[in-house]
Amino acid sequence: MILILDKNISTEKFDIIIEEINKAGANYSKSNNEDFITLELIGIRSDFDVRKFKVLDGVIDAIRISEPYKLASRRYKSQKTIIEINDVKIGSDEIIVIAGPCSVESEEQIHSLAKKVKATGAKILRGGAFKPRTSPYSFQGLGEDGLRFLRQAADENNLLTVTEIIDSAQFDLIEKYTDIFQVGSRNMYNYPLLKVLSKTSKPVLLKRGMSATIDEWLMSAEYLLSGGNTNVILCERGIRTFENNSRFTFDISAINTIQEKSHLPVCSDPSHATGFRDKVIPMARAAVAANTDLLMIEVHDDPSNALSDGPQAITSNQFEFLMNQLKQIAQVIGRRIG
Ligand code: PEP
Ligand code: MN
Repeated sequence: MILILDKNISTEKFDIIIEEINKAGANYSKSNNEDFITLELIGIRSDFDVRKFKVLDGVIDAIRISEPYKLASRRYKSQKTIIEINDVKIGSDEIIVIAGPCSVESEEQIHSLAKKVKATGAKILRGGAFKPRTSPYSFQGLGEDGLRFLRQAADENNLLTVTEIIDSAQFDLIEKYTDIFQVGSRNMYNYPLLKVLSKTSKPVLLKRGMSATIDEWLMSAEYLLSGGNTNVILCERGIRTFENNSRFTFDISAINTIQEKSHLPVCSDPSHATGFRDKVIPMARAAVAANTDLLMIEVHDDPSNALSDGPQAITSNQFEFLMNQLKQIAQVIGRRIG
C-alpha cells in the first residue's frame, strides 16, 4: 500500500499515521517528492481496511497496490515520467529516435554514422562496446576504445549516447563515457547489475528479457527505482515465440500495456525484434503509430560486412527515408520527431 501525505504535514499528524502503521503490523519507507510525501507500506494484510488511513488528517490518498511492482506503477505515479538530458526530453510529446550501429567497429565508422543519423533527426547515438554475443567466438566489441569513439562521435554531432553494460565491474569505466546505460535482454534478470545501476542517476534503458512477461520486466524496473534511480526507460525488443520467420516476435501491444501499467517512457526496438532489415522499416512505422516514446534503430552503411547484426541493419539512406515517413505518422497521432 502507498500513502500519499501532504508535504506540509505537522509532526503530530505524521506521528499519528506512523502509530496506525505500527498497529497494522507494517513497516514503511518514506520518500519526498516535490508535491507530496509518500510512504510505501510493507506487510499490510490483504484484508486491511484502507479507510483507516484515508480518514487520517494529512493523508491525501491511500492506495492499495495489487501489482507486485509499486514504484513503476501508474497507480503510484499517474503523471508520465519525463527524463531530461541536456535539451532532450524523453517521454514528452517528441518521440526520441536512437540510431547507430549494433557495435562500434572503428572511429571512422561511428563518426560517419553519427553525422548521417543526426542530419535526419536522431537525438541519441547507439553503439555497443561490450557485446553479449551468443557465440564466444564472435566479435566481442572494442571495449574502452569503442566507448571513446562513441563519445567523440556523439559530441561532435551534439548527440547523446547509449551503450550496453554487461557486467557491474564495467560500471566506472562506462559511466565516464555514456549518457545512458543499456541493460540488454540477456541481463534483464541480472539483479546484482540492476542494483549497481540503481545507485546512479544516469538513465537506464532496460530491455525486455526475450522470455520475460511484462510484469517480470516491470519488476526489474522496480529494482532500479527502489534503489533510487528514477530515470528508467523500458525497451521492447521482441520476445521468443514458436514463430521463426522473424528472429523474435515484436510484441507491439507491449507499448500500450506499459503505458497503461506504468509511468515510465517506453522505447521500441524493431531491429532486434525482427532481425531482418525488410521487416525493420514497417515495424518502426507501426511502433510510432502505436505511440512509442522512443525508437531504437540499428544503422550500418556496409551491413554485409558488419561485425554484428548486419542482417537487421538498415543503411543511412534507408534511415533517412524511414525518418521522413515516421515524422508524418507522428504528426497524425499528435506527436513529433526531430
Ligand atoms: C543490442 O542492442 O545490440 C542488443 C544486444 O540488444 P538485445 O539485448 O535486445 O539483444
Ligand atoms: Mn544488435
